[in-house]
Parts: sequence; C-alpha cells; structure tokens
Amino acid sequence: MRVGIGYDIHRLAEDRKLVLGGVRIPYIKGLLGYSDGDVVMHAVSDAILGAIGEGDIGMHYPDTDPRYRDMDSADILRHAVSAAGKKNLAVNNMDIVIIAEEPRIGPFREGMVEALARAAGVEKERVNIKATTNEGVGSLGKGEAIAAYAVVSLINGA
Ligand code: MG
Repeated sequence: MRVGIGYDIHRLAEDRKLVLGGVRIPYIKGLLGYSDGDVVMHAVSDAILGAIGEGDIGMHYPDTDPRYRDMDSADILRHAVSAAGKKNLAVNNMDIVIIAEEPRIGPFREGMVEALARAAGVEKERVNIKATTNEGVGSLGKGEAIAAYAVVSLINGA
C-alpha cells in the first residue's frame, strides 16, 4: 500500500470559469491558472504522483508548455492514474478537503465525487469530499483564492 498527499491553491479572478473537482460551477469568478485551475484535480493528481514517487504535476505538465494551456485537469488525473497503473498500483481511496469561502460546495459535491471517480477509474464509494470555509481568516477567508488538500491511498492493482 502507498499513500500520498497533495495540496494546491489558485487565486480567484473575474472572467474565468470556475471548475472544481471536474464540475463547472456557476460563480462570478473562476480560478486563475495555466490549465483550467481545478485545485481539486491538481491536489488529487499530486497525491497520486507522490504515492508512486513521481514528483509532482509541475514536472509532468510544465506551465511553460502551450499544449497545457486551459487543459481539462481531469486529463492530468487520468495521467497520474495511468502512471500508477504502470507500477501496478491502483487508487484505493481518496479523501479531499476543499477550502472555499464562496461558493457553497454542498450542491456540487455529488457531481465532483462522480467526476473524480470517473477520471480515477474507481467506484464513487472510494471518493470522499469535505468542504470548509476559512472562517473569514486570511486570503482564503477573504475569498481571494480556493485551496484543496488530498490524501490518496493506492493498492496493488491487476
Ligand atoms: Mg494547480
């Protein structure tokens, strides 16, 4: 069994669409980033790459490469899962914490679980998402950014 941790934070800006956990969320702002800025997909992908000893997504998807501009971050997760598969490792479970002052995550949680499970090739029961605000504290609390933590465990797969 392997375990990895991932963390990501992106700044919120106007004139960007908000994509979180693979779900398009209607909101006045979106996450800045070279890709679609999906901090949930990025944190989970980093956790998988960490668990298999393959660095981080910045090494696999450098933000200097125009091919990755505005890319669908579910593709990054699929890439990380396939890199794990090459080492005969499969996702066992993932636990995610989203820190966002706004918007409310609750109505989109089930959609995120489904999108993450689909991209990772696992049953929904293996994906857990928790969300919290930052209680108004600091830049996250002022709604200037959204962050996510992920812990993923991998087991020997077929
Ligand atoms: Mg990122």
